[in-house]
Amino acid sequence: VRVALISYTPNPELVIAAAARASTSRREWDFPLESEDPQKIHSFLSKLLAAGHLSPFEHASFTFAIEGISRVASHQLVRHRIASYVQQSQRYTPISSPNFVIPPTIASNPKYRGEFERIFNEAFKLYSQMAEDGIPLEDARYILPSAVETRLIMTMNARELLHVCSLRLCNRSQWEIRELFKKVKEEVSKVAPFLGSHLLPKCHFLGYCNELESCGLFPKRSEKEEGECRLRSSTEGR
Ligand SMILES: Cc1cc2nc3c(=O)[nH]c(=O)nc-3n(C[C@H](O)[C@H](O)[C@H](O)COP(=O)(O)OP(=O)(O)OC[C@H]3O[C@@H](n4cnc5c(N)ncnc54)[C@H](O)[C@@H]3O)c2cc1C
Repeated sequence: VRVALISYTPNPELVIAAAARASTSRREWDFPLESEDPQKIHSFLSKLLAAGHLSPFEHASFTFAIEGISRVASHQLVRHRIASYVQQSQRYTPISSPNFVIPPTIASNPKYRGEFERIFNEAFKLYSQMAEDGIPLEDARYILPSAVETRLIMTMNARELLHVCSLRLCNRSQWEIRELFKKVKEEVSKVAPFLGSHLLPKCHFLGYCNELESCGLFPKRSEKEEGECRLRSSTEGR
């Protein structure tokens, strides 16, 4: 997975703070200046997050070039609707080399890795042959496995980034899209460190795990509540 931040709203954290201030400012305009102490901005943004006042975060956008992901991952990615995408077309752009993603469990398994690669390469050979023989690319591509690599451009605002990262950075989410959003977080952190540090799995905000099974980072809610009950009963009467 390769991710590059190719464009973003200049001064994204200032823009978010400025947007939030517009709602309460008594003066005509009360936009923070670039010279404003970043710590002040960060503590203001913390308050917005804690209050769930998230619409100001929609005013900062980030555009990423993403490549080397499988169609399995891109299919999951584009389910996130509050974003814009342009993906490499398999109708107009012939796939010229058999690049594909091998999941680590298969890459490290000598029993299946060879067979996985062989079948992918066979499928790619047939694809190329059909394309050469005049079968339209839009039809030849049906033979390609979902492991085939794709590339796309994605633009997402900071509010949606917070939301998507809360889902996709979860240790229970699928490994490839998790890897993708780890890199998205790294890229955002370079230009918006406060925002980057808050791109976290949902358990960090909830204080518990709401998945069927916890990875161990946070307890499930019922376990947490039981723990709190035990704590309450052990401190009662003191
Ligand atoms: C671990 C995991 C497993 C998954 N498994 C499956 C699966 O088995 N099958 C499957 O089909 N999908 C699956 N998904 C995809 C999932 O169902 C969602 O489609 C995907 O996470 C998109 O996220 P979203 O709907 O929260 O928000 P986004 O599309 O990212 O939108 C952000 C938010 O905007 C609001 N919003 C957006 N569009 C609307 C709308 N039309 N109406 C009202 N509010 C809206 C919602 O509040 C939403 O949370 C899975 C996702 C995860 C993270």
